Amino acid sequence: MRATEILIPTMKELPSEAEIPSHQLLLKSGMIRRVAAGIYTYLPLGLRVIKKIEKIVREEMDKEGGQELLLPIIQPGDIWEESGRWEVYGEEMFKLNDRHDRGFCLGPTHEEIVTVLVRSEISSYKQMPLLLYQIQNKYRDEKRPRFGLMRSREFIMKDLYSFDQDIEGMEESYEKMYKAYSNIFRRCGLEYTVVDADSGAIGGAVSHEFMVLADTGEAEIVYCDECGYAANTEIAECSPSVVEYSGKFHKSEKDLVSTPGLKSIEEVSEYLEIPPQHMIKSLLYEADGELICVLIRGDRQINEIKLQNALDCVDLWLAPDEIIKRQNLIVGFVGPANLKGLRIIADREVSLMDFAVVGANKPDYHYIGVVPRRDFEINEEYDLRTIEEDEACPTCGSTLNKTRGIEVGQVFQLGTNYSEALNAVFTDENGKNQNIQMGCYGIGISRTMASAIEQNHDENGIIWPISIAPLHVVIIPVSSRDTEMMDIAENLYQELSEKGIEVMLDDRDESAGVKFKDADLIGYPFKIVIGKRTLKNKTVDVGNRKDSQEAAVELDKVCHYIGSLIDSEMGDLK
Ligand code: ATP
Ligand code: MG
Repeated sequence: MRATEILIPTMKELPSEAEIPSHQLLLKSGMIRRVAAGIYTYLPLGLRVIKKIEKIVREEMDKEGGQELLLPIIQPGDIWEESGRWEVYGEEMFKLNDRHDRGFCLGPTHEEIVTVLVRSEISSYKQMPLLLYQIQNKYRDEKRPRFGLMRSREFIMKDLYSFDQDIEGMEESYEKMYKAYSNIFRRCGLEYTVVDADSGAIGGAVSHEFMVLADTGEAEIVYCDECGYAANTEIAECSPSVVEYSGKFHKSEKDLVSTPGLKSIEEVSEYLEIPPQHMIKSLLYEADGELICVLIRGDRQINEIKLQNALDCVDLWLAPDEIIKRQNLIVGFVGPANLKGLRIIADREVSLMDFAVVGANKPDYHYIGVVPRRDFEINEEYDLRTIEEDEACPTCGSTLNKTRGIEVGQVFQLGTNYSEALNAVFTDENGKNQNIQMGCYGIGISRTMASAIEQNHDENGIIWPISIAPLHVVIIPVSSRDTEMMDIAENLYQELSEKGIEVMLDDRDESAGVKFKDADLIGYPFKIVIGKRTLKNKTVDVGNRKDSQEAAVELDKVCHYIGSLIDSEMGDLK
């Protein structure tokens, strides 16, 4: 490949929307271009990286018995109606109508369509296990597309679906994919961790996410160094803690106190000199149309994913002020003590409080000294808060650490969720009809590419792990006008290419400085510099992008030298 023959539009001025390193560097190095919010073109170098990741993914899927197929991007709405997700999936789904006004969508995921395929093609236990996968564009009209390839509206995903005759079979398929995913991310050169996860709109009981550790990650993870527990904070289980009140107020009876104009926990806490852990936040939510009151300690954060899972509801909204007023309640002074007609759902810590401040449902008043269950009823109690750093590990009790991660893959045990809804059955050994046990497994190919950059870059550019680098080596003749240098470069280029080494010859009529800068920006793992010294004493300088080491190597040995460098760098990425 010659630099003069390939489109690599490196960029100097970056758009302000490019906030994180991977987004900036992908644009700057000429690997992607924005078309619309969350929609990108992959330019030749960028596409090479995508193809490398896809190759690793295919190899690991095939190794576990995965069979590649290609499902349509455009999917009829009626199968989504049948599974019950046409409405549930919500605004993230790109919907469209055909000329006959029939509803379709651009596939955000493919459980429906693959289950419909399997229901008509599979009828016997003898045809399973079956692992079907594809690598294809997915479409999600994300609320906030951002960070380039990290959260885009069109992105490339590998999705595999497993079909088994019983739960043990499904668990085996899950194990296989778990192993394959671990291999894939290791081979891509990523530092990752696996965490317990929420199954979200996909559904199912057991799920894990593969997280690439990075400060720019949108996910929060807690992990325990002692026992290895790790979970997304969306689901990490909290141990309730008890805090006894020992302040200036008596604990005996509840008491009405004036709190003029003070609505927030902070304001009331400061005014009454009662710390937030002795206050209760009363939040009104609309859950599938029902107004409910949710209670949580004043120093805690409500976790809406836990709340939604606990209530098993589809729609969950914090009630707007108008709704609160329509209930004759006072915004900022809502409390459970004399609340009529609303279901009261509490976090598990609330009923352990021995003295609490709550809104009095009266303008400018709160109650103090309230004791939950004595002074008000709790209808249901769950773990509803978001775990914090330094809390006890739910498994072993040691102190938890918190960090950030990028979700690059997720695996789900679905059970019979979809096979029941879509009536995918098979005949078992005894001739009885049963629902197929399913699992689904996704990897964001384009997000993996961006994640690799988040973990591997410096102020000069990308430092690709060799297994997914667009090419292995760049040859830089310091002057393209020097025919002798160009001849040497050309010969070396031929020699390396014949050996199967992926090499770029930077034959542009640019200064050496520009070529060096672009080489660092693009992140070729190795560069070979052909300069005056090459002409004088037949040596070239070989540079390593990762550790910036340089070595002078005899020209006739460089091909072998580069070959062994690549081999050793590939090491355990194989
Ligand atoms: P997120 O929580 O980040 O929105 P998700 O849990 O909805 O992701 P899945 O349905 O599990 O995503 O999809 C499988 C994989 O596809 C994810 O692990 C991720 O790598 C990738 N992915 C999901 N949404 C996007 C997106 N908007 N842009 C790029 N990749 C994505
Ligand atoms: Mg996910």
